[in-house]
Amino acid sequence: MKVVVTGGAGFIGSNLCRHLRSRPGVGDVVVIDDLSTGRRENLDGLDVVLVEADIAERAVLDECFEGAGCIVHLAARGSVPRSIADPVGTHTANATGTLEVLEAARRAGDVHTIVASSSSVYGATAGQPKTEDLPTRPMSPYAASKLATEWYALSYQHALSLPVLALRFFNVFGPRQPADHAYAAVIPRFVDAALSGSTLTVYGDGLQTRDFTYVDTVCATITQAVLDKVSDPEPVNLAFGQPLDLLTVVATLEDVLGTRLHVRHADPRPGDVRHSRAGTARLEALFPGTEPVPFRVGLERTVEWFRSR
Ligand code: NAD
Repeated sequence: MKVVVTGGAGFIGSNLCRHLRSRPGVGDVVVIDDLSTGRRENLDGLDVVLVEADIAERAVLDECFEGAGCIVHLAARGSVPRSIADPVGTHTANATGTLEVLEAARRAGDVHTIVASSSSVYGATAGQPKTEDLPTRPMSPYAASKLATEWYALSYQHALSLPVLALRFFNVFGPRQPADHAYAAVIPRFVDAALSGSTLTVYGDGLQTRDFTYVDTVCATITQAVLDKVSDPEPVNLAFGQPLDLLTVVATLEDVLGTRLHVRHADPRPGDVRHSRAGTARLEALFPGTEPVPFRVGLERTVEWFRSR
């Protein structure tokens, strides 16, 4: 089966390409990426075709989607602070961009489409765990754009019979996640600072929790969804209900590195949610028996990758 990965030169996408390439059921893998945050070298040594283009380019989508069995749509502007600085840019890439991908999937002939949503759609919704039937309360333009992403996709399933799976990722971490830009996620920021002997910055008191998921677990689940053509009429959390607070993350990192780290606290960031823990019933029903890579093991592998660069 030919698989197209939008955003495949990014963090999750490039890890996903490695998983797809390791499975005999997968034929050609085509990546569409404008390299705005992704990197060509993330795909080094992999037998994939990289098409450097924006997902707004319809002719490119049509050419790449021809003969595809599955589209994994990961391309997006993935940062909350950046969406607050430039909401229209985030909307264009994430909401309008998804619509372009869905239209191209429809033109290609109802190709199975998997889209990346985010736990940020729960936002200010009270209650833990975050089950998919809770109301959504996006607290940032990024979160709103991800709600649009998943519901545009699911509406194509309802109205146009396009087979769709909308996965809500929580805090994914692992190799190839960048640490060196203004909007970097917390684990690569911490690992990078720790390895270079710098101070780690924790926004707020550090007791906010996140349901961290190692990237290999996410990519193995997506790969299974691709091969088994898993679709669902509702969004599905892709996390395992194992939240950790940031001070525990720092303590685990200290343990992995065998050294004490310097931490400073800064003001909490607008748009950030306080607690995040996934309800897992839908995921378990669709992918029974999935065992996530334990947090500490994922952190060790992440540290190893940062050291090897
Ligand atoms: P990433 O920034 O590494 O990957 C996104 C990729 O999309 C990049 O390679 C970028 O160059 C590309 N891209 C952006 N806009 C594009 C456009 N208009 N046309 C073509 N390519 C474009 O981010 P990631 O962490 O790998 O995230 C992948 C997906 O998962 C995103 O949709 C993101 O919203 C979602 N997500 C990620 C997390 C996480 O913890 N990393 C959590 C929730 C949701």
